[in-house]
Amino acid sequence: MELAEIAAGQPKTELVYLRDMQAKESRTRVIKVVPEKQTHAYLILDQTIFHPKSGGQPSDRGIIQSADYELRVKKAIQFNGVVIHWGKMNRGNPVEGEATCLIDWPYRHLVMRRHTAAHLLDHCLANALGRRIQTTDSWLDVPCYVGYAGNAPADEILRGTERLANQMIASGGTVSIKVLSVEEAKKALQNAPNFERLPNLSEVRTVTIEGCEPIPCGGTHVHNIGEIGPISVVKAEPVSNDSFRLHFAVSESASFSS
Ligand SMILES: [Zn+2]
Repeated sequence: MELAEIAAGQPKTELVYLRDMQAKESRTRVIKVVPEKQTHAYLILDQTIFHPKSGGQPSDRGIIQSADYELRVKKAIQFNGVVIHWGKMNRGNPVEGEATCLIDWPYRHLVMRRHTAAHLLDHCLANALGRRIQTTDSWLDVPCYVGYAGNAPADEILRGTERLANQMIASGGTVSIKVLSVEEAKKALQNAPNFERLPNLSEVRTVTIEGCEPIPCGGTHVHNIGEIGPISVVKAEPVSNDSFRLHFAVSESASFSS
């Protein structure tokens, strides 16, 4: 079945992760169920803690369950503001009504550490290059990279970027989220590395790492860059004449600073 058909006539899903990035579990209401064959189903909820694939951040996975069924969520997909949860039926058949959501927290936390690291790298790369940078895209699963406009920088620049990022992580710094009006956002974000990629919205959510420029972003982040742990800049891969991907890695198990 087409996503458009599944989402048709449904209200926009309330995105709980935008205001509570630490929500691992929540009560929710299933408002639509579309079975697929005998084994899978698409669920629409009134509100969700599942971050769908967007802005380079891969989809959360986890469980939606009640006393009568359990659905293993493999993908959350955003369609015109409606989040569609697709998964495999582990037990029973999902029905409309009250349910509990659980996200795969170790994976989500790894993605959050990578996402905050990606924005820290924006700052550190601009610093090492001594000029404003512009992002093109990113992916925070495998491979894990941020894309930038321009030629791939020399190794010396990559090492400088990595050194600064690790110094900042070791010192720690808060990560704060704000929702700005479009007017406020235009002023605050003109130097943001993804300013050119901003969609037309009535308000703009920004993430600010202490000591860095605010960046517009709808993703989930750690509270303090200390949570990222040591970071390595793996390589700069040219992808066309005028852009490159900065591949990076954080350790698989987080080392918490707090
Ligand atoms: Zn982001």
